[in-house]
Amino acid sequence: MTDPTFNSHLFSNLAIAVAYATIPLTVLLNFRFFPKEARPLILLSAAFVLSCGVGHLLDGLHQTDVLYYWHWVTATISCICAIAFALVLPQQLRHNAILGTIIENIPIGLGLLQEDLDRDGQRRLRWKLVSNKAIVDLGQDLHDKWFDETAWGQSSLSIDDFLAVLDTSKPILQRELEIRHPFSDQLETYLLSCVNLPGSYLWVLWQDVTDRKLAYLSLTEATEQLEWQATHDYLTKAGNLVLFDRLQIQEADRFAGLLSVNLDRFKNINETLGHSIGDVLLQSIVERFQGLLGAGDVLVRTGADAFLILLETSNNPVDLDTLAQRFYAELRRPFICLDREIKIDASIGVADHSVGNLALMRIAGDIAMQVAKSNPLGKRVIVWTQDLMKQVRDRQEIALDLERALQCINCCGSEFELYYQPIVRLDDPTQCYEVEALVRWTSPQLGIVSPGLFIPIAEQTGAIAHISDWVVKQAIIQASRWTNRLRIAVNVSPWDLEREGFVERMVSLCEEYGVMPSRIALEITERAVTDKLERFSDTLKQLSNAGIRLKIDDFGTGDSGLGRILEGRWSEVKIDRSLLPESPRDLGRIAICRAIANLCHDLNIRSLAEGIETESQRLLLCELNIQDAQGFLFAKPMTEKT
Ligand code: C2E
Ligand code: MG
Ligand code: MG
Repeated sequence: MTDPTFNSHLFSNLAIAVAYATIPLTVLLNFRFFPKEARPLILLSAAFVLSCGVGHLLDGLHQTDVLYYWHWVTATISCICAIAFALVLPQQLRHNAILGTIIENIPIGLGLLQEDLDRDGQRRLRWKLVSNKAIVDLGQDLHDKWFDETAWGQSSLSIDDFLAVLDTSKPILQRELEIRHPFSDQLETYLLSCVNLPGSYLWVLWQDVTDRKLAYLSLTEATEQLEWQATHDYLTKAGNLVLFDRLQIQEADRFAGLLSVNLDRFKNINETLGHSIGDVLLQSIVERFQGLLGAGDVLVRTGADAFLILLETSNNPVDLDTLAQRFYAELRRPFICLDREIKIDASIGVADHSVGNLALMRIAGDIAMQVAKSNPLGKRVIVWTQDLMKQVRDRQEIALDLERALQCINCCGSEFELYYQPIVRLDDPTQCYEVEALVRWTSPQLGIVSPGLFIPIAEQTGAIAHISDWVVKQAIIQASRWTNRLRIAVNVSPWDLEREGFVERMVSLCEEYGVMPSRIALEITERAVTDKLERFSDTLKQLSNAGIRLKIDDFGTGDSGLGRILEGRWSEVKIDRSLLPESPRDLGRIAICRAIANLCHDLNIRSLAEGIETESQRLLLCELNIQDAQGFLFAKPMTEKT
């Protein structure tokens, strides 16, 4: 029979031994999770517990001899263990305390999250450890709070992102996050990293980068602003040539069409109305253009009065023409600048991408625009065609040669001469009471150049002032040589009427050469009167007050309508050649001529038919109440000698 105390001793010691053995076993299984510096102590402790367990096992089995020696093993291990603990543990504890303090006071946001399950068995994360800075950053103490109850939980980063760090092989998460601080209510930017640790832990570290971000943003903003300033016109906010050059290099094939817009006589507006009105006008023009631009279209101001409109949308030259007409119509609507109503005109050249890249389109557009500028029919929008090239070259040649010729217009041997074409009574052509002075230019290089060709060019380049001054003076001198009954009509350009001192100069020339001002008439074409009448109505009044007669020339070629006859102190209306009937069957023209003649009659204004070439025409016109006539039928323009 076995002694019961023996059994009890055996089992109790066995139980202790097993219990002792589980501790080192657990340590061994989880050894890798212990911090490296703690591992030797843990190992020693495990060995100590294990040797105690073995001692109990030997005791339970009554192995007294072995136990005797085993005690020495346990004694040795326990002594080493005690010494190690005495030496290392306080140091380790101090170390950990320092580490804890460091973590608490580290100047970055730092926190330890641990995975946990809530009452519903949902996976959640709980803050276990946080630095003080973390509390400041997030505006609340995080200790032991659920992650989703705190600021990071409310940010764009979801709990799933963190759990993914725990679950997947992707151990690090890095994000830029923005939160509105609960106290300051300011939007702050943080750079957050999350690292997983063994044991379902996550280290979350973040840094406040708001200042850096703001500095970066203001730097980006400043760079963008500098970039904008470098590529845009300060006054109108349209693009400038730098922008155009860039587009030319980087996006040469992006645009389907280009409009080259040039304002007429913008310089005059600046000079007569002042630069501040000129500036407001330019801004208003750009505003109107912007209203017509599509999303990808670009507006560039290339000069004081010049714009390029780059159109991304239309591929069709016909569409481009229509589009250009729209821009033109916008320009023609009166502008109100600083309480003044201003009407302007412009020339538009249109080029489409069939010309080539943007650089070529610009050249083509500019050429078409120049052609529009001096178009004798007043067509202000011209689409580029190959033929325009020749016209432009000719124009440039004429402009250059004209400049040269004008330098010696007042010298002996001048290339300019005045011809005179008689104006007669329609019913009695033998009676010539007046002549029209018509300028002629014979260039040694280009031969005889028609005034119809060089006058529009001179108007555009400004050379017209020299020509008009010379023509007016020559005509007055000529009038002084002729009998007092013969009067002279002189053609002037609308720009002359805007020139300072023009009236005074005319009056003083009449005085100087003893010519009655009433012997001089000025002819102003109807096209000029159409929209600029308001601009020089004062000048017309002064001229009329001085006794100089005024005539509307080429009546019927503009779009003014009969009403224009009423505005101004006209002494004669010259009906354009294109309106004269060819035969009695030409009922439309007959009706127009009759209407003009009757109106003139009622208003006590003389009427004249220009360019009569046949006797049948004269007879036809005689019946229409027209008083005066001019044309090859009676006499061609001739020199004073002939
Ligand atoms: P305009 O003032 O209407 O002058 C009449 C034009 O018609 C002249 O052409 C004249 O030669 C032409 N003409 C006259 N009778 C007939 C006719 O029966 N048949 C045809 N086919 N033509 C006729 P021109 O001299 O070539 O002048 C053309 C235009 O140039 C003038 O038209 C005028 O607008 C302008 N111009 C001429 N001289 C001057 C000038 O000194 N100053 C300014 N600003 N313009 C001028
Ligand atoms: Mg004339
Ligand atoms: Mg005429």
